[in-house]
Amino acid sequence: MNLGLYLEGMKELNQGPEQPVIELQDVSRVYGHTTKPVYALNHVSLELPSGITFITGPSGCGKSTLINLLGALDRPDSGRIRVADTWLSDLADKDIDEYRRHTVGIVFQFFHLIPTLTILENVSLPAELAGIPFKQAKAKAETLLERVDLLDRVSHRPHELSGGEIQRTAIARALINDPAVILADEPTGNLDSTASHRVMTLFRTIAGEGIASVLIASHDREMFQSGDRVLKLRDGKLDHS
Ligand code: ADP
Repeated sequence: MNLGLYLEGMKELNQGPEQPVIELQDVSRVYGHTTKPVYALNHVSLELPSGITFITGPSGCGKSTLINLLGALDRPDSGRIRVADTWLSDLADKDIDEYRRHTVGIVFQFFHLIPTLTILENVSLPAELAGIPFKQAKAKAETLLERVDLLDRVSHRPHELSGGEIQRTAIARALINDPAVILADEPTGNLDSTASHRVMTLFRTIAGEGIASVLIASHDREMFQSGDRVLKLRDGKLDHS
Protein backbone atom coordinates (compact mmCIF):
# COMPACT_ATOMS: atom_id res chain seq x y z
CA MET A 1 0.00 0.00 0.00
CA ASN A 2 1.19 3.51 -0.76
CA LEU A 3 1.30 4.86 2.77
CA GLY A 4 1.59 8.47 1.60
CA LEU A 5 -1.65 8.26 -0.38
CA TYR A 6 -3.35 6.39 2.45
CA LEU A 7 -2.40 9.06 4.94
CA GLU A 8 -3.55 11.79 2.56
CA GLY A 9 -6.89 9.95 2.29
CA MET A 10 -7.18 9.72 6.05
CA LYS A 11 -6.43 13.41 6.33
CA GLU A 12 -9.26 14.19 3.95
CA LEU A 13 -11.60 11.86 5.81
CA ASN A 14 -10.72 13.40 9.14
CA GLN A 15 -10.77 17.02 8.13
CA GLY A 16 -13.10 17.22 5.15
CA PRO A 17 -12.83 20.29 2.99
CA GLU A 18 -11.55 23.33 4.87
CA GLN A 19 -14.35 25.45 6.33
CA PRO A 20 -14.17 29.04 5.04
CA VAL A 21 -12.68 31.34 7.67
CA ILE A 22 -15.09 34.15 6.76
CA GLU A 23 -18.63 33.83 5.46
CA LEU A 24 -21.14 36.51 4.48
CA GLN A 25 -24.73 35.58 3.69
CA ASP A 26 -26.69 38.27 1.85
CA VAL A 27 -25.19 41.10 3.89
CA SER A 28 -26.34 44.69 3.42
CA ARG A 29 -25.36 47.91 5.17
CA VAL A 30 -27.44 50.91 4.25
CA TYR A 31 -26.92 54.55 5.20
CA GLY A 32 -29.42 57.41 4.99
CA HIS A 33 -32.59 55.35 5.45
CA THR A 34 -34.76 58.43 5.68
CA THR A 35 -33.23 60.28 2.72
CA LYS A 36 -31.88 58.57 -0.39
CA PRO A 37 -30.48 55.23 0.80
CA VAL A 38 -26.80 54.50 0.10
CA TYR A 39 -25.94 50.80 -0.01
CA ALA A 40 -22.40 50.66 1.40
CA LEU A 41 -22.79 46.87 1.00
CA ASN A 42 -25.59 45.57 -1.17
CA HIS A 43 -26.63 41.92 -0.58
CA VAL A 44 -23.08 40.55 -0.52
CA SER A 45 -22.51 36.80 -0.11
CA LEU A 46 -19.03 35.33 -0.03
CA GLU A 47 -16.84 32.66 1.52
CA LEU A 48 -13.14 33.20 2.16
CA PRO A 49 -10.70 30.37 2.85
CA SER A 50 -7.59 30.87 5.00
CA GLY A 51 -4.61 32.86 3.71
CA ILE A 52 -4.33 36.47 2.54
CA THR A 53 -7.32 38.07 0.81
CA PHE A 54 -7.19 41.56 -0.67
CA ILE A 55 -10.39 43.59 -0.93
CA THR A 56 -10.08 46.30 -3.50
CA GLY A 57 -12.20 48.69 -5.54
CA PRO A 58 -12.68 52.43 -6.02
CA SER A 59 -13.07 54.80 -3.10
CA GLY A 60 -16.57 54.50 -1.61
CA CYS A 61 -17.13 50.91 -2.88
CA GLY A 62 -17.57 49.51 0.65
CA LYS A 63 -14.13 48.24 1.71
CA SER A 64 -14.04 49.98 5.10
CA THR A 65 -17.66 49.07 5.73
CA LEU A 66 -16.79 45.40 5.20
CA ILE A 67 -13.77 45.59 7.53
CA ASN A 68 -15.85 47.39 10.17
CA LEU A 69 -18.61 44.76 9.99
CA LEU A 70 -16.11 41.89 10.26
CA GLY A 71 -14.47 43.63 13.22
CA ALA A 72 -17.89 44.05 14.89
CA LEU A 73 -17.27 47.81 14.93
CA ASP A 74 -20.59 48.08 13.08
CA ARG A 75 -23.64 45.84 12.50
CA PRO A 76 -25.23 44.92 9.15
CA ASP A 77 -28.81 46.00 8.40
CA SER A 78 -29.52 42.53 7.08
CA GLY A 79 -27.76 39.23 6.42
CA ARG A 80 -25.40 37.07 8.47
CA ILE A 81 -21.66 37.14 9.02
CA ARG A 82 -19.42 34.40 10.39
CA VAL A 83 -15.76 34.84 11.37
CA ALA A 84 -13.98 31.64 12.44
CA ASP A 85 -16.52 29.90 14.72
CA THR A 86 -18.57 32.97 15.57
CA TRP A 87 -21.79 34.10 13.88
CA LEU A 88 -21.74 37.81 14.68
CA SER A 89 -25.55 38.03 14.69
CA ASP A 90 -25.55 35.60 17.63
CA LEU A 91 -23.31 37.86 19.73
CA ALA A 92 -24.96 39.68 22.60
CA ASP A 93 -23.64 43.22 23.17
CA LYS A 94 -21.73 41.99 26.21
CA ASP A 95 -19.85 39.40 24.08
CA ILE A 96 -18.69 41.87 21.45
CA ASP A 97 -15.63 43.07 23.37
CA GLU A 98 -14.60 39.46 23.89
CA TYR A 99 -14.99 38.80 20.14
CA ARG A 100 -12.93 41.90 19.25
CA ARG A 101 -10.24 40.92 21.70
CA HIS A 102 -9.90 37.27 20.75
CA THR A 103 -11.23 36.45 17.29
CA VAL A 104 -10.03 39.42 15.25
CA GLY A 105 -7.04 41.76 15.34
CA ILE A 106 -7.46 45.08 13.57
CA VAL A 107 -4.73 47.11 11.85
CA PHE A 108 -5.60 50.62 10.63
CA GLN A 109 -3.98 52.94 8.09
CA PHE A 110 -3.33 55.53 10.80
CA PHE A 111 -2.05 52.98 13.31
CA HIS A 112 -4.11 54.08 16.37
CA LEU A 113 -1.35 53.43 18.90
CA ILE A 114 -1.56 55.18 22.28
CA PRO A 115 1.04 57.99 22.11
CA THR A 116 1.80 58.11 25.84
CA LEU A 117 2.55 54.38 26.11
CA THR A 118 5.78 52.69 25.06
CA ILE A 119 5.82 50.26 22.16
CA LEU A 120 5.91 47.34 24.59
CA GLU A 121 2.97 48.73 26.59
CA ASN A 122 0.97 49.34 23.41
CA VAL A 123 1.43 45.72 22.33
CA SER A 124 0.80 44.15 25.74
CA LEU A 125 -2.27 46.27 26.60
CA PRO A 126 -4.91 44.17 24.74
CA ALA A 127 -3.60 41.05 26.51
CA GLU A 128 -3.84 42.77 29.89
CA LEU A 129 -7.37 43.94 29.05
CA ALA A 130 -8.17 40.30 28.27
CA GLY A 131 -7.09 39.35 31.79
CA ILE A 132 -3.57 38.03 31.12
CA PRO A 133 -1.28 38.80 34.08
CA PHE A 134 1.10 41.70 33.42
CA LYS A 135 4.33 39.63 33.37
CA GLN A 136 2.91 37.10 30.94
CA ALA A 137 1.44 39.81 28.70
CA LYS A 138 4.78 41.62 28.65
CA ALA A 139 6.69 38.43 27.79
CA LYS A 140 4.30 37.69 24.92
CA ALA A 141 4.55 41.27 23.65
CA GLU A 142 8.34 40.96 23.65
CA THR A 143 8.19 37.74 21.65
CA LEU A 144 5.92 39.38 19.08
CA LEU A 145 8.07 42.51 18.89
CA GLU A 146 11.03 40.26 18.23
CA ARG A 147 9.08 38.62 15.37
CA VAL A 148 8.43 42.03 13.81
CA ASP A 149 12.05 42.99 14.35
CA LEU A 150 11.48 45.76 16.89
CA LEU A 151 12.98 44.32 20.05
CA ASP A 152 15.45 47.21 20.17
CA ARG A 153 12.56 49.72 20.25
CA VAL A 154 10.47 48.36 23.14
CA SER A 155 10.87 51.40 25.38
CA HIS A 156 10.36 53.97 22.62
CA ARG A 157 7.09 55.83 22.24
CA PRO A 158 5.24 55.85 18.91
CA HIS A 159 6.43 59.35 17.88
CA GLU A 160 10.04 58.10 18.01
CA LEU A 161 9.39 55.44 15.35
CA SER A 162 9.08 55.53 11.56
CA GLY A 163 5.70 54.87 9.92
CA GLY A 164 6.77 51.33 8.97
CA GLU A 165 7.94 50.58 12.50
CA ILE A 166 4.68 51.90 13.94
CA GLN A 167 2.68 49.72 11.57
CA ARG A 168 4.74 46.64 12.52
CA THR A 169 4.00 47.50 16.17
CA ALA A 170 0.28 47.69 15.31
CA ILE A 171 0.52 44.25 13.68
CA ALA A 172 2.23 42.81 16.79
CA ARG A 173 -0.56 44.36 18.90
CA ALA A 174 -3.22 42.85 16.63
CA LEU A 175 -1.66 39.39 17.12
CA ILE A 176 -1.29 39.44 20.90
CA ASN A 177 -4.51 37.59 21.72
CA ASP A 178 -4.02 34.94 18.98
CA PRO A 179 -6.87 36.03 16.68
CA ALA A 180 -8.07 33.80 13.85
CA VAL A 181 -8.19 36.77 11.47
CA ILE A 182 -6.25 40.00 11.05
CA LEU A 183 -8.34 42.77 9.45
CA ALA A 184 -6.23 45.51 7.90
CA ASP A 185 -7.72 48.70 6.43
CA GLU A 186 -5.24 50.29 3.97
CA PRO A 187 -2.30 49.16 6.17
CA THR A 188 0.32 50.38 3.69
CA GLY A 189 -1.57 53.55 2.68
CA ASN A 190 0.76 55.75 4.69
CA LEU A 191 4.03 53.94 4.06
CA ASP A 192 6.78 54.21 1.46
CA SER A 193 7.42 51.28 -0.82
CA THR A 194 10.21 49.66 1.26
CA ALA A 195 8.16 49.83 4.46
CA SER A 196 5.08 48.55 2.58
CA HIS A 197 6.96 45.52 1.31
CA ARG A 198 8.22 44.77 4.79
CA VAL A 199 4.68 44.92 6.19
CA MET A 200 3.46 42.62 3.39
CA THR A 201 6.29 40.15 4.06
CA LEU A 202 5.16 40.09 7.66
CA PHE A 203 1.53 39.38 6.66
CA ARG A 204 2.83 36.64 4.32
CA THR A 205 4.67 35.01 7.25
CA ILE A 206 1.62 35.31 9.52
CA ALA A 207 -0.65 33.64 6.95
CA GLY A 208 2.00 31.16 5.72
CA GLU A 209 2.71 29.85 9.21
CA GLY A 210 -1.04 29.54 9.87
CA ILE A 211 -0.83 32.09 12.70
CA ALA A 212 -3.88 33.95 11.33
CA SER A 213 -5.71 34.63 8.09
CA VAL A 214 -5.38 38.17 6.81
CA LEU A 215 -7.97 40.36 5.08
CA ILE A 216 -6.55 43.55 3.62
CA ALA A 217 -8.54 46.45 2.18
CA SER A 218 -6.17 48.15 -0.23
CA HIS A 219 -5.79 50.16 -3.42
CA ASP A 220 -2.16 49.18 -3.64
CA ARG A 221 -2.06 46.90 -6.72
CA GLU A 222 1.66 46.32 -6.31
CA MET A 223 0.92 44.38 -3.12
CA PHE A 224 -1.69 42.05 -4.62
CA GLN A 225 0.88 39.49 -5.75
CA SER A 226 1.61 38.78 -2.07
CA GLY A 227 -1.97 37.67 -1.54
CA ASP A 228 -3.79 34.40 -2.20
CA ARG A 229 -6.80 36.11 -3.80
CA VAL A 230 -8.17 39.53 -4.68
CA LEU A 231 -11.86 40.42 -4.36
CA LYS A 232 -13.19 43.49 -6.11
CA LEU A 233 -16.07 45.60 -4.80
CA ARG A 234 -18.01 48.17 -6.82
CA ASP A 235 -20.93 50.17 -5.42
CA GLY A 236 -21.27 47.80 -2.49
CA LYS A 237 -21.38 44.63 -4.62
CA LEU A 238 -18.82 42.01 -5.61
CA ASP A 239 -17.44 42.90 -9.03
CA HIS A 240 -16.79 39.74 -11.03
CA SER A 241 -15.54 41.57 -14.15
P1 ADP B 1 -14.35 52.55 0.91
O1 ADP B 1 -13.71 52.08 2.17
O2 ADP B 1 -14.33 51.55 -0.19
O3 ADP B 1 -13.81 53.89 0.46
P2 ADP B 1 -16.70 52.92 2.57
O4 ADP B 1 -17.01 51.56 3.10
O5 ADP B 1 -16.01 53.88 3.48
O6 ADP B 1 -15.90 52.78 1.19
O7 ADP B 1 -18.07 53.62 2.11
C1 ADP B 1 -19.03 52.98 1.28
C2 ADP B 1 -20.19 53.94 1.01
O8 ADP B 1 -20.92 54.17 2.21
C3 ADP B 1 -19.75 55.31 0.51
O9 ADP B 1 -20.69 55.77 -0.43
C4 ADP B 1 -19.77 56.16 1.76
O10 ADP B 1 -20.03 57.53 1.45
C5 ADP B 1 -20.94 55.56 2.53
N1 ADP B 1 -20.74 55.68 3.99
C6 ADP B 1 -19.77 55.11 4.71
N2 ADP B 1 -19.90 55.42 6.02
C7 ADP B 1 -21.00 56.22 6.11
C8 ADP B 1 -21.67 56.88 7.20
N3 ADP B 1 -21.24 56.76 8.46
N4 ADP B 1 -22.77 57.62 6.90
C9 ADP B 1 -23.21 57.73 5.64
N5 ADP B 1 -22.64 57.14 4.57
C10 ADP B 1 -21.55 56.40 4.80
